[in-house]
Amino acid sequence: MSNDPRLRLSPSSVGDYTNCPQLYKYRSIDKLPQPPNLDAERGTLVHTVLHDLFESLPADRTVSTAVDLLPSRWRAQVAAKPELAQMVSDEKEWLDRASSLVKTYFTLEHPESFEATHREMHLEDDFAPNVYLHGYVDRLDIAPTGEVRIVDYKTGKAPRAGWEEKALFQLRVYALLYWKSHKVLPRLLQLIYLGDGKIIKSNPTTADLEFAEKSLRKTAKEIFISIDKDYWPPKPSRLCDWCYFKSICPAHN
Ligand code: SF4
Repeated sequence: MSNDPRLRLSPSSVGDYTNCPQLYKYRSIDKLPQPPNLDAERGTLVHTVLHDLFESLPADRTVSTAVDLLPSRWRAQVAAKPELAQMVSDEKEWLDRASSLVKTYFTLEHPESFEATHREMHLEDDFAPNVYLHGYVDRLDIAPTGEVRIVDYKTGKAPRAGWEEKALFQLRVYALLYWKSHKVLPRLLQLIYLGDGKIIKSNPTTADLEFAEKSLRKTAKEIFISIDKDYWPPKPSRLCDWCYFKSICPAHN
């Protein structure tokens, strides 16, 4: 556990607070434990395979190499969290579903044709005297010509029309962190949705990143006010149906 007294912000914690301050409190202030979630675990498995795929030589980055990685990476995941063995009753079906997501990846990118410069890259910034901002980027590619592309894999489906901007916020925060630390404005942000084989792309501008920074500062200020007043209003939405804390949430009790 960190002894850093500063507020720690990441795109996911900011997302929690903006979606529902009560949820943010359960996760980031109270630090209540949450049991493993199978959708998230499937996401971890697919992310691990796509990460490790780039250990192979370019010519070997094929669908079969990736699919063949699944059983061993899953065994490692279960070894780290033994309760997963109980949660997955049909391992073949589980691996088949993960395999279908991995196969979809190959319809969207050609991993034999480029090098992944960084995978699981940690970016951080002393955002304000009392705020530390950080995040982990799935993949960051630097082209021979110097252009930077930031890529994030999602195992769900792409958002409906009109919600792309909200989805891109996470990548704009990564782009902001990279811009601040490396003094280079990323050229392309790319969200890869393996659930339905879609990609959302955006060419970030300095105005986009300044807007993301402004929005982060506003959220940080609101969180400090919530902490000060111990005020965490629940914000019921469709998310409640997936919220582990629903049984203790004041909005539902
Ligand atoms: S159940 Fe809904 S309102 Fe309550 S904490 Fe979860 S997301 Fe927020």
